[in-house]
Amino acid sequence: MKYYSTKNPSKKSGFRQAVIQGLPTDNGLYMPEYIPLLPKTFFGSLTDISLQEIGYEVLSHFVGDEIPASELQNIIDKTLSFDIPLIEIKENIYALELFHGPSYAFKDVGAKFLAQCLDYFYRDADKKCTILVATSGDTGGAVAAAFSQTKNIEVVILYPSGKVSDLQEKQLTTYEKNVTALEISGDFDDCQRLVKSAFLDNELRDKIQISSANSINIARFIPQSIYYYIPFKVLGAQQTVSFSVPSGNYGNLTAGLIAQRMGLPVSNFIASSNRNDAVPRYLFSGTYEPKPTIATISNAMDVGSPSNFQRMLNLFDNDHKKMIEVIKGYSFTDEETLEIMHQVYQQYNYLLDPHGAVAYGGIEKYLQQSSLGEIGIILETAHPCKFMDTVKQISKENIMPDTAHEFLSKEKKSIKMEPDYDAFRAFLLES
Ligand SMILES: *Cc1c(COP(=O)(O)O)cnc(C)c1O
Repeated sequence: MKYYSTKNPSKKSGFRQAVIQGLPTDNGLYMPEYIPLLPKTFFGSLTDISLQEIGYEVLSHFVGDEIPASELQNIIDKTLSFDIPLIEIKENIYALELFHGPSYAFKDVGAKFLAQCLDYFYRDADKKCTILVATSGDTGGAVAAAFSQTKNIEVVILYPSGKVSDLQEKQLTTYEKNVTALEISGDFDDCQRLVKSAFLDNELRDKIQISSANSINIARFIPQSIYYYIPFKVLGAQQTVSFSVPSGNYGNLTAGLIAQRMGLPVSNFIASSNRNDAVPRYLFSGTYEPKPTIATISNAMDVGSPSNFQRMLNLFDNDHKKMIEVIKGYSFTDEETLEIMHQVYQQYNYLLDPHGAVAYGGIEKYLQQSSLGEIGIILETAHPCKFMDTVKQISKENIMPDTAHEFLSKEKKSIKMEPDYDAFRAFLLES
């Protein structure tokens, strides 16, 4: 399998290069040069095979021969190593709970697959590779957990001091060995600026090998397509099923589109957003107008200008009509999101997190106008314990998982630093 840049389709890279590089040098995004159609017999067998076998059947096409079969199976087994249950909320609406991994959010699968692939690529390297990540809270925890066992890869996480929750901070600062947390006295933009400066510093890059664990890396976004097979595995492949995806950067939804192109019989995708609604507005009007980011209670989806929209357009040949046949869009204010959380808790005793609540709003609106007698699945992307400030307005239940208490009881280890590039550069060269 080769990957081309959305900015220049004639320039192609293999899987390994695309993963190590993350982004093509022309600032486009990598896309697979074709999407394989899987055999009907495979879809007929979903109820009988394991999730790891499904993962292998899907992902082996994208990896090609750049990782040997037994290694890839091993990588997939490690990636899909926690429960992903499908919970019935009410008749015809189910939650696919993607938050039972180490950081309690769905990004664990993508981060783990990327970490395992890079671990394989650098296993016998003579040079170490350093992954730089700026985080506003959530991504850093998934990346730290995913890379905590890798051998030739160091991880440096930059986070804004005092601007992440207690649990998030402990998820960044309590790993041993190869994961270092830099506590920057500034905001997320300062962290991101330091990382960007390092990538533009050719002199630094001659001295150390740096890479990113950015969410637009193909190894983070493609494995997410496995999620969409699970309801068919549990309920049977003959059902009519639509998915509501709480979306920010649209990596998760794009991965669903890939599953559908491979033959998974998904009826519709619902792009559910908070007030950062560039994609729902595009679906409605045909005009794409990204706007500055607005802060909301579903803050992992606070993305004004989603990167993966380029990939979505690409999959539909830039044709608005084709896209709206498959994707419907709805957006919700914070007030509406809280109201949904409240109602679903009162009526069905299911505690949604704010992101899952946005997805729930989307699937309800969609099912009201659909005449197909469909089953609606929401992707529940985060454990409600990650958003206690909001969730405690809905329920006083004690929902902290034991492993979260473990994190909270560990000692924080961070290195404090001013948002100053020379200091950051000196740190990278020393370590
Ligand atoms: C990242 C994230 C999202 C948005 O996913 P995208 O792939 O960026 O659209 C939704 N919910 C949670 C909890 C997240 O962490």
